[in-house]
Amino acid sequence: MGTIETLEVQGAQGQRRALLKALLIITGLSGALFFVINTQRGLYLLATIELITGAASMLLYLVVRRTRNLRVWTLVYLIPFLTIMMVAMYLPGTSPTVFLWVYIIPVISHLLLGLRLGFAVAVFFMLTTFAIFVLKHPRFLYEFNFASLANILISCAVALAFAYVYERGSEKARAGLMVIASTDPLTRLANLYRFRESFQQERHRAERYGSDLTLLVLDLDFFKKVNDTHGHAVGDQVLIHVANVLRRRLRASDLVCRVGGEEFTVLLPDTGLEEAIKVADSLRCLIRDTPYREKTVTVALSCSIGVALWRRDGETLEQLMEAADKRLYQAKLAGRDRVESGPLQG
Ligand code: GH3
Ligand code: MG
Ligand code: MG
Repeated sequence: MGTIETLEVQGAQGQRRALLKALLIITGLSGALFFVINTQRGLYLLATIELITGAASMLLYLVVRRTRNLRVWTLVYLIPFLTIMMVAMYLPGTSPTVFLWVYIIPVISHLLLGLRLGFAVAVFFMLTTFAIFVLKHPRFLYEFNFASLANILISCAVALAFAYVYERGSEKARAGLMVIASTDPLTRLANLYRFRESFQQERHRAERYGSDLTLLVLDLDFFKKVNDTHGHAVGDQVLIHVANVLRRRLRASDLVCRVGGEEFTVLLPDTGLEEAIKVADSLRCLIRDTPYREKTVTVALSCSIGVALWRRDGETLEQLMEAADKRLYQAKLAGRDRVESGPLQG
């Protein structure tokens, strides 16, 4: 399921957006500063480029604040930014310290573009920097000095490796946090946070393709009695057992979630009411026919299910949950171990 990925990307995106905004402000201001400096030094071409870069950075800042295509806009910014840096390195008359920027390239590209693309962009522009350096200072090669070459190569390699390893670590940490944030620790099912994210995605998909979307709310019957009879620890094992039963029965595209206690929800994309009732009923039978067994303990189970259909019962997850909950309550009143999907009473 792509949901964790989406959460992870969103987590990274927030950070990358903030970094890009900071960078745009800095390049906006330094564009103005270098425009003045280079005009005074008579480097009019470079001064003009700096001025355009500064103004473009400010405009981009407005776009980057809101865009959903952060990666594309990052490239729109970063490629010209690095190319201008290369031009500044190549042009005669620029300060030799312009080459110091080579150490910033891996940091900026990894933090803004992530591991793979960041690495590729960093390697390309660092090699280009080296080529420009040699082109501009051919004496460096004629009067070959192993120590100087080693200084340059090793310090660049350290900058590149640090940026790469840092980004890999933070991507892993972010992915781990996202799993924790979106998973129910007892059953390892999705939690309500992730369920909400999936619902939004599936709702957009259903809107685009005109397909159906149904929601089931499932509550175990007389679960308090399980705890009272066998203890809370066995109750927990029963919940894990039920989660596994549900997981095994459903398609990969369906999402099961533990919303709390002994209550589960199931999102069925591309599924109409009739089909959803069949799925709900087969889950109900499966839970009834698969009691929890452990050594000497056998716990017979049953559940009640309320069904809600997107659009018929509402547009939002809250509206659908409310409708399904009401039907679940009807199923409990009507004697439990049943699926309720019909019109709401009262
Ligand atoms: P009903 O058929 O009306 O649903 O009866 P019920 O006993 O299942 O009633 P209800 O759904 O209100 O009770 C839920 C019980 O589930 C209460 C609580 O003791 C138990 N429970 C909630 N969360 C957990 C949990 O994480 N572990 C265990 N072992 N029990 C839990
Ligand atoms: Mg219950
Ligand atoms: Mg309950």
